[in-house]
Amino acid sequence: MKSILCPLCEVDRTAFVSRRRRQNLTVTTVICLECGLVYHNPVIEDSDRRDTGATFQAWHTDARPSSRYFKKLEARWARQWPLVGSVFTPGCRVLEIGAGLGVVSAHLKRLGAKVLSVEPDPAQAAYAREHWDLTVVQARFEDVDLTGEQFDLILSSHAIEHFQDPLNFLAKVRTLAHPETALFLETPNILAPKVSPVRLFSVAHNFYFSPWTLSLLLEKGGWQVSRRRIFRRDAFQLLARPAPPRRPAIPSQAVPLVQKALNRHRYLYYLKLLFLWRKIPWWQTYWMYTDDPRYDDIMALELS
Ligand SMILES: [Zn+2]
Repeated sequence: MKSILCPLCEVDRTAFVSRRRRQNLTVTTVICLECGLVYHNPVIEDSDRRDTGATFQAWHTDARPSSRYFKKLEARWARQWPLVGSVFTPGCRVLEIGAGLGVVSAHLKRLGAKVLSVEPDPAQAAYAREHWDLTVVQARFEDVDLTGEQFDLILSSHAIEHFQDPLNFLAKVRTLAHPETALFLETPNILAPKVSPVRLFSVAHNFYFSPWTLSLLLEKGGWQVSRRRIFRRDAFQLLARPAPPRRPAIPSQAVPLVQKALNRHRYLYYLKLLFLWRKIPWWQTYWMYTDDPRYDDIMALELS
């Protein structure tokens, strides 16, 4: 465990959000009162997670490669394709960071991309190699030396929230980009969590982004967001291009927006029976994973 400053603001002015005992670790979650970024402080390092005896895979999900789990991954990929497809060209060089079982990498390979996948979990990396014939570097992305490599498309789905230094992650990704490279990220949205208040803050994740805090972190790390999709619940997606690193200009509504969302989630999850709805496939398709119109005005302001 390591105490950190807010990676966006580089200060330590936070309010307490939650403290839970998880797998012999005390997980303390705070919100930055400058920017609204929610994170564990101290952050959980990979060595702490390893000490709990869990594998990389187990930190993220209990799912074994079952047909149900693959169905979920395929559905997620189908939701990602509209943004990814808008920048994909056959023959392009792709890097996927946190490839898991390799479903996304395999799709892109099938579509004609030259794909390199990075996955820290040995079992998942082996599965991706065996089942899809993928080139998988089995390592933590922080430890992989890709000096001199350049990619046209870099994807990372549900991974940035695990890193202990997401700004460093974005900066490293930036070194692998040329001016036309597209970066695709998907991560859970703290403004509209899918999981229950009890499960929300986990050992697996360190950072709980909103579309704003991640966009600002991208700017700081040398990326400019070009497109977004914010679903009504669960997650959001960003597409970004390299740009000169910029000091983030934090909108005044950033902090109250997140605080309000956290407070609402504490009771609305139960009041609106979200724990039931979220399991129903048609509800997922026709409500949860449709674009959330609530933030259009603020997004337009912030993008202009
Ligand atoms: Zn901050």
